Amino acid sequence: MSRSPARVFAALNAVRPPDQASPVLGKAVVVGGSVAGLLAARVLSDHAESVVVIDRDDLHVTGARPGVPQGTQLHALLPGGLHQLEYLFPGFRAQAAAQGAVEAPPAAQRNYLDGRLKVVVPDDADSLAGSRPLLEGLIRQRTLALPNVKTVTARATGLVIDGVVTTGVRCDTGGVSGIERGDLVVDAMGRSSRLPEWLEQAGWERPVTRRMAVHLNYATAVFRRAETNPDPAVVLALHSPRTATDVAGAAYFAVEGDRWMAMMAGYGDNRPGRTAEDFVRRLREQFPPEFGEVAGNEMLGDVRTYGHADSRRRDFHALTRLPAGLVSVGDAVASFNPVYGQGMTAAALHAACLSVYLRSGADLGTPARRFFALQKVVVDAAWSMSTSADLALPHVDGPYPRGYRLSSWVSRQIVTATVTDVAIARRFNQVVSMREHPRSLATPGVLLGALRANRRAR
Ligand SMILES: Cc1cc2nc3c(=O)[nH]c(=O)nc-3n(C[C@H](O)[C@H](O)[C@H](O)COP(=O)(O)OP(=O)(O)OC[C@H]3O[C@@H](n4cnc5c(N)ncnc54)[C@H](O)[C@@H]3O)c2cc1C
Repeated sequence: MSRSPARVFAALNAVRPPDQASPVLGKAVVVGGSVAGLLAARVLSDHAESVVVIDRDDLHVTGARPGVPQGTQLHALLPGGLHQLEYLFPGFRAQAAAQGAVEAPPAAQRNYLDGRLKVVVPDDADSLAGSRPLLEGLIRQRTLALPNVKTVTARATGLVIDGVVTTGVRCDTGGVSGIERGDLVVDAMGRSSRLPEWLEQAGWERPVTRRMAVHLNYATAVFRRAETNPDPAVVLALHSPRTATDVAGAAYFAVEGDRWMAMMAGYGDNRPGRTAEDFVRRLREQFPPEFGEVAGNEMLGDVRTYGHADSRRRDFHALTRLPAGLVSVGDAVASFNPVYGQGMTAAALHAACLSVYLRSGADLGTPARRFFALQKVVVDAAWSMSTSADLALPHVDGPYPRGYRLSSWVSRQIVTATVTDVAIARRFNQVVSMREHPRSLATPGVLLGALRANRRAR
């Protein structure tokens, strides 16, 4: 790839669906009908005559579902992801709002870093707050409304590879085995995807999996909300890794159904939310006063917890032997410390990679190397953001990339400056919301601006 990663990343962010469908393949089979699989199916609907989405859950049932155990946890949709969804599904934002999602323009957001209120929220930090089932449900509704997309409820159990080409997926439907044939198979089975094992079993190479242990404990609870247009609607109180001994932070959003959704996260032995009393007490004692006010409302249901052991990525791009007609997207390729809220936005950018790949005259008779090379740019960007922050956590012990000490000092200066300087906060926001590549922060101008802002603040 001759263009710089930053340019590729910018181009992916600018991808729009074609005005007219232009099928380059007959049937595509997507395994996994969560956010990444549905977004891939949306893109494929423009380039395949038909698309089949296979999931072990019945995708016509609404609400939280067993195949997505993280679905009960608070999910932030980054502004970059919201833009992508609006391109793929025009009117998405208005439709989500009509279903109860709460608009959170910059004026309705409040951010704390290490207990200090950020004096500036950049004017482009536009957000939409809704539960994960609402967001996923709307993506599903819009995707399954496409005339050439259908679903199959089945558990995928393996690949069918004829010679060097993937030609289908083996499925189990209530004890009955079958095969779903296709010209392109998309793995969107999430972080526990069994694609590496399936490849190995079929005599192919399995991708190297890289992990960074973060030992994060998440807890989410829902509270009754009286205000129709709460101010603020979105509040984040994060701890920077250097100061976070074991408390990662907390957040609460106004969500549909006149509810507050509050999340708290800790590292290692810090396990918030074992009981409702513990959750409420910690919100009151460890976070700014408005968290206590939310916790003073009636709790609806139980506290839901989730353990996230590691960030992990699978290096499909580095495989020397890979069957044709096969790609992998979403958490199946890379899943990160959820504190940074990257997953759904990264999945949208993987869908953009698929769009570029298919539009560039992809030869489905050869391995999808161009797709994986594009996707690597997205994975590298998200991985560098989340793991470089996590490496500063006291309990994380590497692996440290070259030049880590210098780069972590630089990022500390920039992050500190976001509390007081709107220009730096805006640049930083563009990167954390995945609209710009992290390298856009690595300029002398940004560093000098950050140093000056930090000196002024002292
Ligand atoms: C605690 C937590 C909090 C998070 N918070 C955020 C956040 O704030 N913002 C954000 O953007 N992201 C967040 N994420 C990440 C986000 O949930 C994922 O990135 C997002 O769901 C995309 O994942 P996916 O579609 O690749 O996989 P998943 O959502 O895991 O879905 C995988 C799908 O594959 C299906 N499947 C699996 N195996 C098979 C099989 N053999 N046969 C058939 N079907 C199968 C499953 O049923 C499921 O539907 C969070 C994650 C966690 C764990």
